[in-house]
Amino acid sequence: MTYRITLIPGDGIGPEITEATRRVLEATGVAFHWELAYVGKTARDMFGSVLPEPVLQSIRKNKVALKGPVTTPVGSGFRSVNVGLRKSLGLYACLRPAKAYPGAPSVHKGVDLVMVRENMEDLYSGIEFERGTPEAARLIELVSETRGESLGKDSGVSLKVISEAGSRRIVRFAFEYARANHRSKVTAVHKANIMKFSDGLFLSVAREVAGDYPDIEFEDRIVDNMCMQLVQKPDRYDILVAPNLYGDILSDLCAGLIGGLGLAPGANLSDELAIFEPTHGSAPKYAGLNKVNPMAMMLSGVMMLRHLGEARSADRLEAAIAGVIAEGKHVTYDLKPQAPEKAAGTSQVADAVIARLGS
Ligand code: NAD
Repeated sequence: MTYRITLIPGDGIGPEITEATRRVLEATGVAFHWELAYVGKTARDMFGSVLPEPVLQSIRKNKVALKGPVTTPVGSGFRSVNVGLRKSLGLYACLRPAKAYPGAPSVHKGVDLVMVRENMEDLYSGIEFERGTPEAARLIELVSETRGESLGKDSGVSLKVISEAGSRRIVRFAFEYARANHRSKVTAVHKANIMKFSDGLFLSVAREVAGDYPDIEFEDRIVDNMCMQLVQKPDRYDILVAPNLYGDILSDLCAGLIGGLGLAPGANLSDELAIFEPTHGSAPKYAGLNKVNPMAMMLSGVMMLRHLGEARSADRLEAAIAGVIAEGKHVTYDLKPQAPEKAAGTSQVADAVIARLGS
């Protein structure tokens, strides 16, 4: 059987880590037909759009995509292609495991957390009112009329939107994932003490959903406390479920615990479609240098193999990556903080993983 997969190399370091990942996936013996697709600045230069419709069609048709990171201009310029992809395709769940492999420069040993991030709502809904525009003025007026609060006329506003249905869907996803993967606890992360109508809604729905899963322990944590707890006692946690922004920030915190972004994989999922991509971004300053760690994207490939039902190949590839980390010889600079001058390059890491797959 040959799997048709939409392959989005992205930009910055994307193309080189995508190539390294494609090579190790093919070395597992699983057959792939890659359908290449371009988004972001590359697509704008080629096709005049940062998210061309044929890319969405390709993912809808193939149901599975493997994606490198894509640069988003900060503060101005086009909207995030990553957010656009997730919203256009209804990829409501972002799954980001953080596992400390022996030999990685992790803060604690044995960390094995899974972040489940709501992917479409919250402050990422893209509903923003730019300072000084008539729409912003109307909103400021409305707030004054309905809430008696006077906002500065020079305010910009981004809306935080959390729905009951969106919360129910993501919390249910977290519990189902816990059951399917023999996990024992789900922790809901929020700031419901301050944002009673958005995070408060998320928390009350989470408590309700937890009642349907008596076999899985449930608890909640306020996000600031969660950050401290994760740094000090990550072993007390298992699966974390959070609204979009906290999920995004906590994913990077979890990546920091296990040796850095170079080891943090991820997936964006709906009930039908899946895009596998690393947690990290396009790290533009390292682009084209054959320097960065391809393992976060390779581990996203491991998640993709599991999703495709190729569990044996997934286990073999994960073991090969873990073997290369444990040996510590052919790893990139981020995994060699004591001797970065002895680090391997991106493509040498792929060679080492492939050699282990063959042995
Ligand atoms: P980043 O994740 O690209 O990089 C931050 C730092 O992390 C890098 O400077 C580097 O030191 C380290 N790093 C990242 N990936 C690494 C790897 N594979 N190996 C070793 N070290 C690695 O974050 P940023 O600099 O904030 O963002 C750069 C661009 O990426 C921005 O335009 C941002 O919007 C975009 N971004 C895209 C995605 C995505 O495509 N899903 C996700 C996050 C950020």
